[in-house]
Amino acid sequence: MKTHLDPARKIPVCDEVDVLVCGGGPAGFCAAIAAARGGAKVLLLEQTNCLGGIAGAGGHNHLCLYTAWSSGERVVAGVPFEMMDRVVKMGYGAWDHEPKKAHGGSVDFELEGLKLALEQMAAEAGVKLLYHTLFADAIVEGGRCVGAAIQNKTGRQAVLARQVIDATGDADVAASACAPFELGRPGDGACQPATLMFTIGGVDWKRVCEFRKGDYRLQHVWEAAQKAGDMEPFQNQIMGWWWTPTRPDQVGVNFTHIFGTDCTNAESITRATIEGRRQAFHMIPVLRKYIPGMEDCCLLSTAALLGTRESRRIVGEHVLNEREIVACKSWDDSICYGSFFIDIHNCTGPGMDEESWRPEKGFKYQIPYRSIVPKKVDNLLVAGRCISVTHVALGSTRVMPQCGALGEAAGAAAALSLQARCTPRELDVRKLQEHLRSAGAICDEQSLKAAN
Ligand SMILES: Cc1cc2nc3c(=O)[nH]c(=O)nc-3n(C[C@H](O)[C@H](O)[C@H](O)COP(=O)(O)OP(=O)(O)OC[C@H]3O[C@@H](n4cnc5c(N)ncnc54)[C@H](O)[C@@H]3O)c2cc1C
Repeated sequence: MKTHLDPARKIPVCDEVDVLVCGGGPAGFCAAIAAARGGAKVLLLEQTNCLGGIAGAGGHNHLCLYTAWSSGERVVAGVPFEMMDRVVKMGYGAWDHEPKKAHGGSVDFELEGLKLALEQMAAEAGVKLLYHTLFADAIVEGGRCVGAAIQNKTGRQAVLARQVIDATGDADVAASACAPFELGRPGDGACQPATLMFTIGGVDWKRVCEFRKGDYRLQHVWEAAQKAGDMEPFQNQIMGWWWTPTRPDQVGVNFTHIFGTDCTNAESITRATIEGRRQAFHMIPVLRKYIPGMEDCCLLSTAALLGTRESRRIVGEHVLNEREIVACKSWDDSICYGSFFIDIHNCTGPGMDEESWRPEKGFKYQIPYRSIVPKKVDNLLVAGRCISVTHVALGSTRVMPQCGALGEAAGAAAALSLQARCTPRELDVRKLQEHLRSAGAICDEQSLKAAN
């Protein structure tokens, strides 16, 4: 490969903080709030112009699961619950409260309402936001991450930090700091397909529901459309139509499927975004023709941020695997619960991968602190999609309430490590669990019982 020698240069230090959080998705947002509430001076940087990550610029207006699988037992509380509860109370969304269940497991909402609510919460907690800013390089001294070089309209600058949290979803910070990571599935490194979310308007949702009844994925409809030559075969199941009563004629559509995308590569992301937008436009006449209630629908928007299901996963002090998840193993250093099915999209074609797994009612499992502590680099924690799990386990841990809960634990751990003058790796996890319990999070059996 041809190379260019980038000369070493002095860059201005634009900020010095206790905790630098890179990435403002569910994980980074919850990490920043928890760290700030723990007394730390926090800077949260984000490459787009809003908070929420896949749920913000990514256009995915549905979060799940806050409860054990198919049950009303709450497994996620704390900041990730508070953020969505605020959105609902502000009139921008609705929980899926089923009369028989104690708690709502999922929430559908308006993207703009979420963005507003999260900015309000960040301001109230004293979190400083820096948008349109790309984390560029980790600054590592003596095996400790002490800040980051950032790039934005102002130019190239440095932020110095006593603790850094990587919530980029892609482990950009960990990779730059030379912490070990994996990418994709074992063998061929393939990642789950990316999806560019799009929103349609002009929908008569009541009629759509009557047509859909219990048939969630409508596979026969897409197969018929493909047989008739009306639709390309990139997908054969609807992965999500996200509707909220607060904006009744609009639906967020999770349907595009872009294979072979490396979401850590700018050219690959660009190709996938262009292909996703093409697929979104392609779907409009299909929806109009085949779905009663969508005859008059139109494309309102495609998401600003490509939907990444899988990219880098760090190799941390513990790599959580699918056997541990399926066995619902508990851990002394548990920091939160997961409960979603193992949801793996086919990496090379439409539909789901055969390694997907659907649990029994009531399924929930714990995630250990060691899975957010990267090997080799100190004063760095990782939260959200890119924690230390296997390719298959990621199918369950990647959903947003769990990413938020992991973020809350990472933020609290960073603040507590500063108080205890230790590295996050040395932190007494019982202190972290005590802190999470008193903050209203669910991190272990004791807090789970208290919440239900
Ligand atoms: C199509 C699709 C459907 C999904 N369906 C569901 C669902 O139904 N329910 C559910 O709960 N979850 C769902 N998920 C999973 C979920 O959205 C993600 O796994 C989750 O958002 C990960 O959270 P995160 O905070 O780790 O990362 P993200 O949400 O990806 O947020 C990362 C943030 O970091 C920013 N960032 C990245 N790199 C940099 C950088 N170098 N510098 C600055 N900023 C950076 C990004 O702009 C982004 O805002 C879905 C995902 C996809 C793609």
